[in-house]
Amino acid sequence: MAGCELCEAARLTTWYHEDDVCWVADCEICCVPMVVWRDHAVDPPPHVRTHMVTALTRVADEVLGAGTWSLDDVMRQIPDHFHAHARDPHWWVRRTERMVRRAGAGSDTGAGGGLGGGGRPGGRAVP
Ligand SMILES: [Zn+2]
Ligand SMILES: [Zn+2]
Repeated sequence: MAGCELCEAARLTTWYHEDDVCWVADCEICCVPMVVWRDHAVDPPPHVRTHMVTALTRVADEVLGAGTWSLDDVMRQIPDHFHAHARDPHWWVRRTERMVRRAGAGSDTGAGGGLGGGGRPGGRAVP
């Protein structure tokens, strides 16, 4: 779908895997591996979902370490295109550090958002 970041599949980060069904790459925002369905839809059939989780597991076990991460399939940023993150306990810290490095002080990264989902830093970062 035009204008959808996930459909565009811009290779701004490290890509670990791709096939006919999905691709796995570092999330530009969270700095953790995420799997993205090639279809612009939210509800993959069970075998497709299993395929994607398997692909993500293979990557995340290698990148983050087996047993250190958990699957997060809540689609906060892009609610109409299926994707799932592999989050380790430190992803939030790493993300904040990177944001600070990139943006300098004074951005809204610290503002009451957290996992509650309220205040996310607006939109996509311009490199
Ligand atoms: Zn899409
Ligand atoms: Zn992310």
